[in-house]
Amino acid sequence: MSKIKLPSTLEGKTILVAGAAGFVPGHLCEFYLGLGAKIIGLDNFITGSRSTVELLSKNKNFEFHECNIFERLPDFSKNKIDFIFSLASPASPIDFDQIPVEIMRVNSEGTLKLLEVARAKGARFLEASTSEVYGDPEIHPQVETYQGNVNPIGPRSCYDESKRFAEAMTMSFHRHYKVDTRIVRIFNTYGPRMRPNDGRVIPNFITQALKNQDITVYGDGQQTRSFCYVSDLVQAIHNVMFCDDPTPFNVGNPDEYTVKQAAETIIKYLGAKSKIAYRPIMQDDPRKRRPDLTKLQKISDYRPKVTFEEGIKRTAEHFKGLK
Ligand code: UDP
Repeated sequence: MSKIKLPSTLEGKTILVAGAAGFVPGHLCEFYLGLGAKIIGLDNFITGSRSTVELLSKNKNFEFHECNIFERLPDFSKNKIDFIFSLASPASPIDFDQIPVEIMRVNSEGTLKLLEVARAKGARFLEASTSEVYGDPEIHPQVETYQGNVNPIGPRSCYDESKRFAEAMTMSFHRHYKVDTRIVRIFNTYGPRMRPNDGRVIPNFITQALKNQDITVYGDGQQTRSFCYVSDLVQAIHNVMFCDDPTPFNVGNPDEYTVKQAAETIIKYLGAKSKIAYRPIMQDDPRKRRPDLTKLQKISDYRPKVTFEEGIKRTAEHFKGLK
């Protein structure tokens, strides 16, 4: 497979970003504003942050609409749209507990509405799917051809199954209507502007370590995750958007840690006096997770650049600055 050619500028292009006030999409918008694109951002602030939108709005090429994409999209009849990023889903296990129906609706009805815009405008569409489509994986590391081990009625199923549905609908629009589509499966990602109370492991451990509080490790801490710093993730998503393969790509960082190792490492990097405290694990917590990036590396020279140490320190600086 030939390597992709990335554009040096996107001046004159318009990009629709669903979920623009979210953590990953906010960084993605900054990246594309840096390439000169015009961005139309959408968010309902159910988990997104108004301060991210304020920050992005400093750039005159950023336009924002507050809306629930699964109910109604703004009128785009007069807009030219070249690219669409479907990034609107809440993605933390806490969200799965608190807003499961909104998650299912945004990934089904919301994705459908965005695909209809892509079809009408002739825009290229990217679905931000997730490593959760693999469920509790029986093969390791996870390759894109693995079809997963998902509990369809478990507490994570609102996210896992609706993202599987979103992938299926994306491929249906591609096959049936010839819409130009891409799919990325995002693995664990962290970085500045995550919600400190988001419930996920890295913000929890950093906020606990900064206060020298106990670090809450769920279960025995032997489950693994592979953590990607957000700028590396944005680069990987960009590479996939500009390749010509509609089938799914894993995106992330393959450096794998047990959760206990992650806790010990964060304590060390931040010089904290915290101790580890074990807490009950949630149902269906995947035991292992690491992306196989062979497919992504065949189309691009992608290598994550930010080390775990650097990423943790940058994220901790951001949390320290929050009041
Ligand atoms: N986890 C933990 N302590 C916390 C938060 C999470 O031990 O305070 C564990 C959780 O059980 C899981 C892993 O860290 O095994 C990653 O959890 P996260 O919520 O970040 O995302 P997931 O990858 O499970 O979607």
